[in-house]
Amino acid sequence: MAALINRLTDAKRVVIKIGSALLVDGTNGKLRKEWLTALAEDIARMRVRGQEVLVVSSGSIAMGRVILGLPAGRLKLEESQAAAATGQVLLAHAYQEILGTVNLKVAQILLTLGDTEERRRYLNARSTLSTLLSLGAVPVINENDTVATSEIRYGDNDRLAARVAQMIGADCLVLLSDVDGLYDKDPTRNEDATFLAEVTELTDEIMAMGGGVQTAYGSGGMITKLKAAQIAMESGCNMLIASGKIMNPLGAIEAGEARFSCFVAKDTPRNARKKWIAGSLSSAGTLTLDAGAEKALRNGNSLLPAGVTKVEGNFDRGDLVTLLSSDGRDLGRGLSAYSSEDALRIIGHKSGEIAEILGYSGRDAIVHRDEMALN
Ligand code: GLU
Repeated sequence: MAALINRLTDAKRVVIKIGSALLVDGTNGKLRKEWLTALAEDIARMRVRGQEVLVVSSGSIAMGRVILGLPAGRLKLEESQAAAATGQVLLAHAYQEILGTVNLKVAQILLTLGDTEERRRYLNARSTLSTLLSLGAVPVINENDTVATSEIRYGDNDRLAARVAQMIGADCLVLLSDVDGLYDKDPTRNEDATFLAEVTELTDEIMAMGGGVQTAYGSGGMITKLKAAQIAMESGCNMLIASGKIMNPLGAIEAGEARFSCFVAKDTPRNARKKWIAGSLSSAGTLTLDAGAEKALRNGNSLLPAGVTKVEGNFDRGDLVTLLSSDGRDLGRGLSAYSSEDALRIIGHKSGEIAEILGYSGRDAIVHRDEMALN
């Protein structure tokens, strides 16, 4: 247990994800101020210890829907967008006010899927977050639900939090939830459910445990937490699932008074960018490789235009593309150094001919090996 607690106390950068059900009173849509005040004390103590803290907070829809008089149950997309727009103002204000009482500076960041998936925007978001941390602020992050539509959203803040942790190289992610960790069966329905304190490998058996446990407010549940664990562990970030149903939940973990499940980060030599590429959700197009190029990639080389036989999709320079073998196998993903339009013109050609074909001297490789993650 002590060794697992260190995963939190020794971390340099910690992302704390707070679920709607903890922050918002389900009966009246009001913020649970006392709870947040206690959490602010936890965060302040972590900061004093020299830890950098980021918060990923849900709750905008849960708060906004009550204010707008929207019915209980599932909302239409435009209704939840409206609710988020209304609730987010209150949420941000509450954080500013309550964290302010313990002298924490708060900054609001609203992210959309593209901010962690598109390289240029990813780099922007990452540098803003690092700057805020270096200035001693606590970034409070949520999905920009008002503009995110179903095709372009994370949809749940568990994965958003994992992406944020990955993006800024956090070493610990704590998902505060209404469950205190992972069980082999839904503990609300099975008295004999076994608690798992430590998970080192996300086996099929573990992933299958993500069934049940849904909350009325968040769109999460255990399955999105396990998906978040997948992203976090791959990114070198430990992930804790702990109950936030008590006051000062982080203090309770530190004191050994609250149990939690720890998903232990994999010790992987991949650099941060490679990890991000491997975990990205959607790719903008495909490049089909000839057999020689496939072999070259397996040997750790970059993908040159000469080895590409087909370009599909419409993508820009810097976008994520899927790499396919000549017989259509998914080989992995990478960031394209060329737009699809330019890629179409240079494939099959030697790198030395690129400047002449395109009229500018681009990179030799169409996907550099450092910007590639093979399956
Ligand atoms: N972004 C949503 C909100 O603030 C919550 C998403 C989730 O429940 O995971 O209301």
